[in-house]
Amino acid sequence: MKRLILATRNAGKITELHAILADAGLDLDLVGADAYPDIPDVKETGVTFAENALLKAHALARATGLPAVADDSGLCVDVLGGAPGIFSARWSGTHGDDEANLNLLLAQLGDIADEHRGAYFACAAALALPDGTERVVEGRLNGVLRHTPSGTNGFGYDPILQPEGETRTCAELTPAEKNAISHRGQAFRALVPVVRELAG
Ligand code: IMP
Repeated sequence: MKRLILATRNAGKITELHAILADAGLDLDLVGADAYPDIPDVKETGVTFAENALLKAHALARATGLPAVADDSGLCVDVLGGAPGIFSARWSGTHGDDEANLNLLLAQLGDIADEHRGAYFACAAALALPDGTERVVEGRLNGVLRHTPSGTNGFGYDPILQPEGETRTCAELTPAEKNAISHRGQAFRALVPVVRELAG
C-alpha cells in the first residue's frame, strides 16, 4: 500500500483525512508526522495559509522521500481586515492558548455590531512530492462572530463562530456536522483528485 504522510501530530486531522480518502476509494497508508520523530518541525515563515501549507509539505516530502500533505488554517475577521489570519494560533502572544486568543478577539470586537461581525475559517491544504511537484487547494467556512462563547465541542475559535445558515456555533455542532461543512473538510475533499493524480 502506498504511504502518504500528513504534516500534523493531531490525531483528529489524520482520522478526518483518512476517512475522506477512504470514502473516495483511495486506500493509502496515511501516517502522521509522529511516525518520523527525528524530523524537526518547520518554521511557518510564510505570510499566507497556502505558503505555510506548502512549506510544511515540501519539508516533510524532502525529509521522508514520501508524498506529503500539510494544512494551515485560521480565522479571518472582516472588520480586522482578515486578522488574526495566519496569527490565529498566537493572537494573544502565547502560541496555542485558545482561551486567551478567543478572549482577546472578543474584547477587540466588543463595540462591533452584529451586522459587521462577518468572519470565516480558512484552510489551505498542500500536497508535495519529493521531486518538488506541488499542488495547493483551499476551503472556507463563512459565518458571523457571536458576542459570547457557546458550546464545548471543537477547539480554538469554534465557540464564537456561527456558520452561515446555522443557529448554533461550531462548538455546538457534532464533530461530523462540523467536518461536513468545515474549511478543513472542504480543503481535504478538494485534495482527493490531486492525491489520486499524484500519489494514489
Ligand atoms: P492550524 O493551522 O490547524 O494549527 O490552526 C491554527 C489556528 O487557527 C488554531 O490554533 C485555531 O486558533 C485556529 N483554527 C483553525 N481551524 C480552526 C477550527 O476549525 N476551529 C477553531 N479554530 C480554528
